Amino acid sequence: MTANEIKQKESQYVMQTYGRFDLVLDHGCGATLYDTDGKSYVDMTAGIGVTSLGHGNKALSEAVAGQAAKLMHVSNLYYTEPMVSVAEILAVKTGMGKMFFANSGAEANEGAIKLARKYSFDKYGEGRNKIVTLIQSFHGRTVTTLKATGQEKFHQYFFPFTEGFDYAEANNAADVKAKCEGACAVMLEMIQGEGGVLPLDKGFVKEIAQFCKENDILLIVDEVQTGIGRTGSLFCYEQYGIEPDIVTMAKGLGGGLPIGGVLASKSCCDVLGSGTHGSTFGGNPVSCAAAKVVLDTVCDPKFLKEVQEKGEYIMKSVADMKLPSVTGVRGMGLMIGIGVDPKKRAGYVNRLIEKGVLVLTAGSDAIRLLPPLVISYEEIDKALAAMKEVLAE
Ligand SMILES: *Cc1c(COP(=O)(O)O)cnc(C)c1O
Repeated sequence: MTANEIKQKESQYVMQTYGRFDLVLDHGCGATLYDTDGKSYVDMTAGIGVTSLGHGNKALSEAVAGQAAKLMHVSNLYYTEPMVSVAEILAVKTGMGKMFFANSGAEANEGAIKLARKYSFDKYGEGRNKIVTLIQSFHGRTVTTLKATGQEKFHQYFFPFTEGFDYAEANNAADVKAKCEGACAVMLEMIQGEGGVLPLDKGFVKEIAQFCKENDILLIVDEVQTGIGRTGSLFCYEQYGIEPDIVTMAKGLGGGLPIGGVLASKSCCDVLGSGTHGSTFGGNPVSCAAAKVVLDTVCDPKFLKEVQEKGEYIMKSVADMKLPSVTGVRGMGLMIGIGVDPKKRAGYVNRLIEKGVLVLTAGSDAIRLLPPLVISYEEIDKALAAMKEVLAE
């Protein structure tokens, strides 16, 4: 199929839920992607923080192909090895208790919400079911996780939404505490990703963690975007010095295959018993074989240090450009937001595509960078040179 045929058929047969760029991608290698005409692009997106080990990764594709040939799927009525290995790595590395496997970030957050509500129901009975999230957060696209998302624009059309959510101001501990009347959980992203790459203050996060502990309110950390090495530690919460009760993950975990997970601490990991939750594809052997390779790579302290160094290099390089169009650079590890004039942002993104660099946006003002964690300095420098030119225009 030619690129034009692909675009035509997409508009005819695929629901038009995405504003796609005029770009048909064909294959990739490391942090470089190629379109159907053979033009190359430095990938500063990794999907949306998904392909952490880059494109065409040999160890990853071999593990996937091997597992696909051996056993692609059996139901959760039986045991399989890859799922157990992934759960073990995550539980041992974090000191937490047990894993539930899902297939996406929204599904992981749904699981966390169910767990928190049942934890409270089992202990305190009905009524203590509220979940407090932050304004400008993003937690997913299902009816419940849309309501968990603290942005009004997501609370349209699909009424009635799930009840029992309230929203507090980020970095305002008093507001969170005030909203916690009748709450069973607080759910936070350590860095608001879709909201604009906005890292939470350490003091605020610590104070909320302490408050939650004192009041037996579960602290859910949504690490769907920040997790699995993205910010230079396995999970971003480690850098905040807290111990969450529940951690959700997805995006980067499968290196490109769909997988999500709910990791619960020892104090609440037995709340969801037999028959209370499930997912047909959850813990799929192929996705888990991929996740095992990702975790084996990402859990290496040397690898994580390199992620931090690359992130610092990019942030410093952009700041050193001293471009009047850049209002600020923020982020941790390889999750970076570059503040620009909201009115000019779409133009910058399109000019960068022309120059062979793919970037994301977030919130109202950020150009968001989430490159594969294995990106080379050569690829980084190519992207930086293009950004320097485009942002100066
Ligand atoms: C992307 C994202 C989600 C939703 O993940 P899906 O896999 O698209 O369902 C939830 N939370 C955060 C923080 C995200 O970045």
